[in-house]
Amino acid sequence: MSDAGSIPVVETFHSLQGEGHHYGRSAFFIRLAGCNVGCTWCDTKHSWPMANHAKQDVDALALQATQAKDAGAAFVVITGGEPLHHNLQPLTDALDRSCGLPIHLETSGVDQLSGRFDWVTLSPKRHRPPQQALLSRCDELKVVVLDTDDVSFAHAMANDTSTATHLLVQPVWDSETAQELAIHHVKQHPRWRLSLQNHKFLQIR
Ligand code: SF4
Repeated sequence: MSDAGSIPVVETFHSLQGEGHHYGRSAFFIRLAGCNVGCTWCDTKHSWPMANHAKQDVDALALQATQAKDAGAAFVVITGGEPLHHNLQPLTDALDRSCGLPIHLETSGVDQLSGRFDWVTLSPKRHRPPQQALLSRCDELKVVVLDTDDVSFAHAMANDTSTATHLLVQPVWDSETAQELAIHHVKQHPRWRLSLQNHKFLQIR
């Protein structure tokens, strides 16, 4: 876990948001360490053990975000791992103080929300359902689809979001079956959009 002024970080980088509602936009990413959600398809398993990743000072992270802003980043993305395993208030306070960019969060929603965010992307997992408060709060619901049960799960999750929430399904990378399921779902449900992991197609971070 994090203490007040530091938090374990896997990596920081300035790239394009590769997926979801804001895909294709310039963003500065802070990937936090630690996740106990255990998704079988996870593509960031190296982030799971918190102890493998050094803590960084939140003000130093905010300084990096400010430098990325000067280089063109439009917003900051706090991702993981599962970022909400940590109290994110000190980090978002530091970003608010010195960076001033909108702050986005990508979370599975298994923990309570902490910190202040301009945009919350909730990517709930069937085997670890999210906190109800995050379903009500999220700006974007992005459900990863591997099989038909995930499509049913997407519907159930959407029922608990607000009418303003953007709804997206994202097929598991490299699965034709998942792609077909996601495309079929979007064709039949006009509120839903397809999310693709464009950064993987482009071979960028
Ligand atoms: Fe991986 Fe995210 Fe699932 Fe954690 S919640 S196991 S980081 S996909």
